[in-house]
Amino acid sequence: LEEQIRRSDRLKTIGQIAAGTAHEIRNPLTAIKGFMQLLNKALSDRDMSKEQEFVSIVLSELERVNDLVSEFLLLSKPKEIKLVPIRMGTILHEILPMIRSEAMLYKVTVLYYPKPELPSILADKEQLKQVFLNLGKNAIEAMNGGGTLIIRECSYPYEPDRVAVEICDTGSGIPAEVLEKVFDPFFTTKPLGTGLGLSVCQRIVHDLGGSIEVSSDEGGTQFTVLMPHADARMD
Ligand code: ADP
Ligand code: MG
Repeated sequence: LEEQIRRSDRLKTIGQIAAGTAHEIRNPLTAIKGFMQLLNKALSDRDMSKEQEFVSIVLSELERVNDLVSEFLLLSKPKEIKLVPIRMGTILHEILPMIRSEAMLYKVTVLYYPKPELPSILADKEQLKQVFLNLGKNAIEAMNGGGTLIIRECSYPYEPDRVAVEICDTGSGIPAEVLEKVFDPFFTTKPLGTGLGLSVCQRIVHDLGGSIEVSSDEGGTQFTVLMPHADARMD
């Protein structure tokens, strides 16, 4: 519990710093990106391909900074969360096209098992979409040589008031000493990772009264998101 409190204090501090600075960083970034795109166009009109290559590198690095700032913004407490009763299937349907196009790049097969008869949950749609996007992205990134990503809606007999979504991959798996750190802010094993994806997921899911679990072996990894039924949360 103490560890949990320490972690949530740390997340709160990061959130406060993020809220204060992320917008200030994003504004000049937007301007730099815009002018770089203009420069790119001007160089292509003059047939200056070498210089265009430099500009492309700047643009892709800008994209990285932009991603980092976006994740910072998500870590800071969102100003307005809109809780509505919604089906998991609705949320998953909206992110599947994005997951599938990312999967194609990694030669990953995506299998989706919906379960429409499951009760609705109470959630902010955009936030939960972010959770499943992050989990899907991690799964795909763990299967560089190809593999299978399974997204399954289900419920467990011993969890009568919650619905579950399982995200399973046939990727590299997570060694035990890494497994205990995956939710830590800034923990990453990727050369270009931010290490913020899973801490964002955890924050969002906990805020919505749910939980997120992980298990892993050499065969792959499974993340499970459990969310309370909408009527179970109404007071
Ligand atoms: P990032 O993706 O930027 O590294 P995350 O917070 O999303 O940050 O993930 C943290 C770390 O957890 C990853 O660097 C990776 O080591 C591990 N991880 C997360 N999901 C998976 C997965 N599905 N398979 C293997 N490792 C994973
Ligand atoms: Mg990630």
